[in-house]
Amino acid sequence: MADERFSLKLASDVAFYLDEAKVPNLLFGWLAMSLVGSRKVSTEVDFVIPDNKMPAAIKTLAETANYPVCKDPNCNELHFDRVRGYTADQSLVLSPNRIHSVAAAHFHLEDGTFILNLHPQSKLLWWLPELTTAAPAAEDPYLMLSTDPRLPPLSVKPALEGVAPTGGPGPCSANLYHPVKILNPGSLTEALLTLLCRDRARQAMGESEEADHLAMLWTLMSSQLYDSCGTSISKHVRPKFKEAWDGLNERDPGMTNVFNAVRALRDRMALANELGPLVDGSKYTPPDDFL
Ligand SMILES: [Zn+2]
Repeated sequence: MADERFSLKLASDVAFYLDEAKVPNLLFGWLAMSLVGSRKVSTEVDFVIPDNKMPAAIKTLAETANYPVCKDPNCNELHFDRVRGYTADQSLVLSPNRIHSVAAAHFHLEDGTFILNLHPQSKLLWWLPELTTAAPAAEDPYLMLSTDPRLPPLSVKPALEGVAPTGGPGPCSANLYHPVKILNPGSLTEALLTLLCRDRARQAMGESEEADHLAMLWTLMSSQLYDSCGTSISKHVRPKFKEAWDGLNERDPGMTNVFNAVRALRDRMALANELGPLVDGSKYTPPDDFL
């Protein structure tokens, strides 16, 4: 668990520096998932920053925190596929860390063992109200802090060899860690379903390779939050996501394919122009891919 502790400390430090500099920030990605109950240990720390605050975020972390910003034009991190040369179907078998959303800026830390990524909000969370520096209110519909006592407790089950234990690490102690802003479990689930719909829509519009791979990534990540995965926290999604989420969790006995409700959600969101800057709803034609 040393990796997880380092990742959590790094995330806490990043949030501290950015909060001090009044740069809004939100932890996303695998580490944020580990806080709401998926225990995939990750050496990637992903933050989302409002687009217009990205230069300030990079400057703060490079100059105040002294993190080495990567300037290598040939860095492997600049490609969505860290391995390359295999089809999307094989990607997750090879390594869950293989595919990632390329960041606007990244830092290699601890001799390259850990990667800190900064993503513009428009690329991952365009639907979320623009992040601010304010701490989330107790009833905030989207956000919470890593120190929130509603987060799940650490599982007492020992890990099998090579398999991370299930159950979250529990709320981070405010004594040990600076509070880090995250999406609440329901909003994180919605964020992954929205990204899945976006990249499935891009596939349907003929944008193949990156969309194919990212769709696999969002599928894998959302599957780690399924209720059957041993996560001890319920995900309350809004009504428009409920059918898709119930389908994926196999709660609809009449459904012929668990992905059909996701496909319907993809088409509704694409046609309503809700899938962000990469999907033009006026050019979207729903494909005939229901099973
Ligand atoms: Zn790099």
